[in-house]
Amino acid sequence: MGDVYKAALPSGLKLESETLVAYNKDFEADAPLRPGEQSVLDAFGIKPALTLSELEKRTGLRNVVPVVTSLMARGAVEVSEELKKGYTPKKQTFVRLSETCRDEDSLQEAFAGLKRAAKQEALLLRYLDLSHALNPQLEKEISSKELLEHSGCATSVLDGLLNRGILERYEKEVGRLRSTVCRVQPFSILSEAQKQAYNGIYDVFKTKDVCLLHGVASSGKTEIYAHLANDVLGNGRQVLFLLPEIAITTQITGRLSKLFGDKLLVYHSGFSGNERVEVWNRLLRDKSPVLVLGVRSSLFLPFNDLGLIVVDEEHENTYKQQDPAPRYHARNVAIILANMHGGKTLLASATPSIDSYYNALTGKYGLVKLNARYGNCLTPEVMSVDIKELRRKKIMKDSLFSPLLIHEINKALELGEQVILFQNRRGFAPMMECRSCGWTPHCMNCDVSLTYHKRQNRLVCHYCGYATPLPRECPQCRHTGLRMLGFGTEKVEEEVAALFPSARAERLDFDSAHTRTAYERILSDFDDGKIQILIGTQMLSKGLDFGNVTVAGVLNADNLMNFPDFRAHERAYQLMAQVSGRSGRREKRGVVVIQTSQPEHPVIRMVQAFEFEEMVKLQLGERSLFRYPPYFRLIFIVLRSRNEGALEEMSVLYAENLRSRLGERVVGPVTPPVMRIQTFHIRKILLKIEATAAVAHVREILEEVHASMYEHLLFKQLRIHYDVDPA
Ligand SMILES: [Zn+2]
Ligand SMILES: [Zn+2]
Repeated sequence: MGDVYKAALPSGLKLESETLVAYNKDFEADAPLRPGEQSVLDAFGIKPALTLSELEKRTGLRNVVPVVTSLMARGAVEVSEELKKGYTPKKQTFVRLSETCRDEDSLQEAFAGLKRAAKQEALLLRYLDLSHALNPQLEKEISSKELLEHSGCATSVLDGLLNRGILERYEKEVGRLRSTVCRVQPFSILSEAQKQAYNGIYDVFKTKDVCLLHGVASSGKTEIYAHLANDVLGNGRQVLFLLPEIAITTQITGRLSKLFGDKLLVYHSGFSGNERVEVWNRLLRDKSPVLVLGVRSSLFLPFNDLGLIVVDEEHENTYKQQDPAPRYHARNVAIILANMHGGKTLLASATPSIDSYYNALTGKYGLVKLNARYGNCLTPEVMSVDIKELRRKKIMKDSLFSPLLIHEINKALELGEQVILFQNRRGFAPMMECRSCGWTPHCMNCDVSLTYHKRQNRLVCHYCGYATPLPRECPQCRHTGLRMLGFGTEKVEEEVAALFPSARAERLDFDSAHTRTAYERILSDFDDGKIQILIGTQMLSKGLDFGNVTVAGVLNADNLMNFPDFRAHERAYQLMAQVSGRSGRREKRGVVVIQTSQPEHPVIRMVQAFEFEEMVKLQLGERSLFRYPPYFRLIFIVLRSRNEGALEEMSVLYAENLRSRLGERVVGPVTPPVMRIQTFHIRKILLKIEATAAVAHVREILEEVHASMYEHLLFKQLRIHYDVDPA
């Protein structure tokens, strides 16, 4: 319950308190003090009161709470809670006529007194003009800032009027949510194909609560959402529009605020705590229909009448909250939430998740397809390049770029068009190796090799952030040559600079676009054509809308497909299809070049032919055979401990106990590919439960087995969490 509240409330609303312990000077011990108690009392010194953490620091005790409790019982200390207030309302200073100047006569008198102060006289006239202070019907409040701006006067002139007691100042709370749009634009008229999809969705909603909209890239899905949202708002109900990432909200906020003005509220952690509190309060107090645009955390907002939830890019795994708890899949929560309000859910994607598509195929959800790209946009031409063959022929020996990709990029640059390049690793080289003995640098906290970041000249762990300078020599054999294996976006950037010196290139990845402003700056520069080549990780594929991109390159598709996860092929397809979707919008047909050493791989073939249904069919076959979702439900039991021996012993025992209740549904314990993260060793037990089974019963069994494990002392050294439907 606490975890859920913590995730749900904006930080400004979380009341945090600090415990203050005060020493009672009149205290006289009636019995000898225990050592801990004595050191706590000694810790006060001359300070009358200390916080718990200060006490722990001063005494060196790990947990002072029991000691403080016993001291409190003896009357030696008193404890109080001090609240810290998070949210501060925004206040503004306004001006008005002072009490004595509010009638015609006294105002005349005031003007008479201003004969020698022309500027003050003008300012007072301006104030009367703006505020209509003498006309109760039209009177409006004027902030001092507004008055100064409109009059062009200096603050000192206003001070003059205030000092004379003609005007007076007062403070007032104002909201932060004012829309910057003064006039909303009319809705665009839907194209024939969009209109059909829009009607199709309404048909589905007649009989079903959930509709999956499978609309190809640039088919204008956002326009359809806008029309649907407008209908729901017109019926006096609320709408929630979910996006997988804060980053994309920027582009869409601009478009939607022009249509919805003040009815649009944006909610995500990119906003200040105060703004989020105001969104929360507005929903709580004002029940008027609004459209909320947000990421998964906005599911927790206090809606009172949701008519529709749109989950855009529904296939994205960022909808799954992984760590910390509460672990939930926002797509599934959206469906439940809409249901609770008697509303509908629209899931949408150009590459739907297999789970949702399966639900549509089996009739649980309705399915609407939108196959026409908006404005007769042509489908891009997707070509694959066999890099293994090129390397064998010594053509791509030292380069990450195939001749075909170089040719296409040059062609695009000559025509003033733009290029995006995708590589799913950041940094310069994901792995370093000693040329002599094969030593590779590893993170000291995690079981992963460190990635070389050239710009910082450091080795960085992408799991815990640990960083260390690049060693000059191998610590094992003192050899001074380290070889780089693989490549990341930083290396692509370096080679782009060498191959296409006249083009301006930028990187869009976690390192370069760490903050919202940096991200927005890169995107707007690309939009304005200041950047010709944009190199990026997954960030590139997520629903962004670029106008002038005609070439998309996937530098190495192999590690996408060879990733050890049952969803790897689904993800690889989605990623490559999404990257392809960024190329060739509007009038011009785009080109996509996929570099791979497995050009015959079915995933590559299906991306080339846009065979989404084919991919789903193949995957469904494999998943039913190997007992994976959507036929089986996965539950991971993640066990972590710094004590590897205890972890090993207990996880084996745990799995055995589970197996006695659940039989073959229990797999493991297994050691995950990354078996240690942030100094914790990890084991996983995997449960594969029939999709038709009652979850409540499974939970009962898990709770019983978990409780029974506490017989073993070692079990207390483990940290355990359950991850249902892991993404
Ligand atoms: Zn070595
Ligand atoms: Zn690490």
